Amino acid sequence: MTLIGDLVEILGPDRVLSEPLERYLYGTDGGVARGEVIVVVLPETAGEVSDVVKAAKRHGSPIVPRGAGTGLAGGAAPAVPSVVVSLTNMKDIEIDLGNRTAWVGPGVINLDLSKLTRSSGFHFAPDPSSQSACTIGGNVANNSGGPHCLAEGTTTSHVLAVEIVTADGEIVLLGGPAPDPIGLDLRSVVVGSEGLLGIITRALVKLTPNPLAVRTILAGFATMEDAVATSSGIVARGVVPAALEIMDQKMTRAVENFVGAGFPIDAGAILLAEVAGHPAAVEAEARLVEQVANENHVTSLRVAADEVERAKLWLGRKSAFGAVAQLAPDYYLHDTVVPRTQLVATMQKIYEIAERHGVLMLNVFHAGDGNLHPLVAFDASVEGQLDIVHAAMEEVAKVCIEAGGALSGEHGIGLEKRDLMPLLYNEADLDAQARLREAFDPDGLFNPQKVLPAGSRCADLGRPIPTGAWL
Ligand SMILES: Cc1cc2nc3c(=O)[nH]c(=O)nc-3n(C[C@H](O)[C@H](O)[C@H](O)COP(=O)(O)OP(=O)(O)OC[C@H]3O[C@@H](n4cnc5c(N)ncnc54)[C@H](O)[C@@H]3O)c2cc1C
Repeated sequence: MTLIGDLVEILGPDRVLSEPLERYLYGTDGGVARGEVIVVVLPETAGEVSDVVKAAKRHGSPIVPRGAGTGLAGGAAPAVPSVVVSLTNMKDIEIDLGNRTAWVGPGVINLDLSKLTRSSGFHFAPDPSSQSACTIGGNVANNSGGPHCLAEGTTTSHVLAVEIVTADGEIVLLGGPAPDPIGLDLRSVVVGSEGLLGIITRALVKLTPNPLAVRTILAGFATMEDAVATSSGIVARGVVPAALEIMDQKMTRAVENFVGAGFPIDAGAILLAEVAGHPAAVEAEARLVEQVANENHVTSLRVAADEVERAKLWLGRKSAFGAVAQLAPDYYLHDTVVPRTQLVATMQKIYEIAERHGVLMLNVFHAGDGNLHPLVAFDASVEGQLDIVHAAMEEVAKVCIEAGGALSGEHGIGLEKRDLMPLLYNEADLDAQARLREAFDPDGLFNPQKVLPAGSRCADLGRPIPTGAWL
């Protein structure tokens, strides 16, 4: 039997997509990489995922697990022709309010979980700006962050257990409801593993109580330096707000033109700060935010009067990447992180890099944790443009690492940053990571040639690249 024949036997013809257009659509994610898809499958249970993995393994075909495909590092774009396992049909949710937890299928859309639990007084804290589309499986695989992860922590702080299907097709539970399960913490190895170690088929996540009070403050500044100094100054006074987000003027104007969030377009940079918690503490913290902003020459300051105004401000922040579509057909979004104290100097260098390469760059970033998102708007159909963008972004990565930062704050390494890993890790580090991967997946079945560059270890290099004979 052919691979596709086997898959149809497991899932039926409707959940096996092999038409050229279908395969093309699943060949990329939110980033710029594209790869070849052999076939797309849509399992609905862990048992089906297990049968799919066993069939693909029998036919020697690599597997790329996939959520909503909103990733920005090429994590869900096959590096070699692969079976794409889309988990979007696995949407079961079992809420346990007594324990403040929920078992969720990997295909549950992030925001849907919070919508479901909001009236009971809870939400799922990690809130990527893509939260109306991205899946919890993708969030767990990428250890995703979001504006409100400054105070609450990224996805790993909210996952108690993961169920995975291994490269042998075994269904294994890692972690559990207990806060400190015995044995090695393999759950935290899988969180953030970018689809390299297994396919996540369920996760036990924490539900966070909704804050009793929230204040959202929009501050405009003449310069990026003043906005950054305010953000760092607030944290230095011992307050960790729920969110501290900065946008430069180009991004503010694009967003304002796109959704009309009420951002001041004459400001050189804006800061969106949110404090949340007990009403008395929130009032005191909001006053401190205003005070620090004043000390740093704030030019305009507004506190959202009600939930409608607050929602509008956040719509503006969360629409930032989409707003760039007005400027150019494509964008490349970088994701790096530097110590907060290095933000101003690093931003200056990043603007210089953009100018030297002649690219249109806009910036919006999670200032509280030093997580930068330089974004270049460009037209990929113009020959040579993508090469220029890659060259500029490689320099940005180097500058951030020199400043004591890291290659990714939240989007992961995937394909896009794989070959930059030696900037941060020496041979021994890479070999250790490759050996850990081999312990889970000795044949490199899952997401081959991602995250670890060629030469980290022989797993990817030694594999015969499938030729298409299975079709
Ligand atoms: C407009 C926009 C805003 C964004 N904002 C943020 C942000 O604020 N913070 C942030 O962190 N990210 C952000 N992202 C990036 C992206 O949304 C996140 O990385 C998200 O978690 C990806 O989820 P997904 O379901 O789309 O996963 P996909 O893109 O489908 O996959 C991402 C990676 O996870 C793996 N994977 C997916 N599902 C599974 C599974 N069940 N088992 C094993 N591996 C799996 C894939 O192989 C791939 O490597 C943004 C993206 C966009 C387009």
